Amino acid sequence: MAFSIKRVLDLFYPRLCLHCDQLLPQEKNTFCPVCLEQISLIDLHGRCRTCFGEFGKGRCERCVGRSVVIHKQLAACEPFGPAQTLLNAIKSGRPDSISAAASLMAYQWLACKRPLPDLIIPLPCTFWEKQKIGFDPHHMLASEIGKVFSAPVHIVLRKAFDHTHFLSHGEFRHRIEVSHRRREVLCDKKILLVAPSLDDTLFRSIGHELKAFFPTQVDALAFAVIE
Ligand SMILES: [Zn+2]
Ligand SMILES: [Zn+2]
Repeated sequence: MAFSIKRVLDLFYPRLCLHCDQLLPQEKNTFCPVCLEQISLIDLHGRCRTCFGEFGKGRCERCVGRSVVIHKQLAACEPFGPAQTLLNAIKSGRPDSISAAASLMAYQWLACKRPLPDLIIPLPCTFWEKQKIGFDPHHMLASEIGKVFSAPVHIVLRKAFDHTHFLSHGEFRHRIEVSHRRREVLCDKKILLVAPSLDDTLFRSIGHELKAFFPTQVDALAFAVIE
């Protein structure tokens, strides 16, 4: 009798929609058709062209009054419903969610008619974040986008424990710094920072760190805006 391990596995572990747990019609899908329908790219109109904040056309008041550190910030989706589920799955490093999110992010970048980056840099995870799930989901996300844009991915940033903050405030905080080993790759490059969520303050602080090594331009691309 013909015996298929795959059929047995499908019987005990059927593929379910990541968001609503419905049985999936095709095994390669991550979402059922109903949930997939609910995921859409954020409309670029009415968003600040620098920080992507929801403030109207052109640049928002916040960006008009401050220096440009990150040339352009962009996010693919609002974190609601199935897109929120996808965001959670990216953070836990689920491979199919990372490739799905990377496609949406790349599509949004191209829809915005942005030039392709020369170098992609993932937002760093802490050692403990990586230990918890066994690998670095930010690096995986950046690598997927690197494949779409045919751009190299370098781990240039690292999180370091902030002793000064700990001594003055008595609480843990990480600062982000450029590792000495990778500084030489930044000069004269269009750099794209990649992260699961768009965080203006964090991106600007990373931008300041990177600018010390003379990149041509620093942009940032996230899967979701912060609610
Ligand atoms: Zn579903
Ligand atoms: Zn703005």
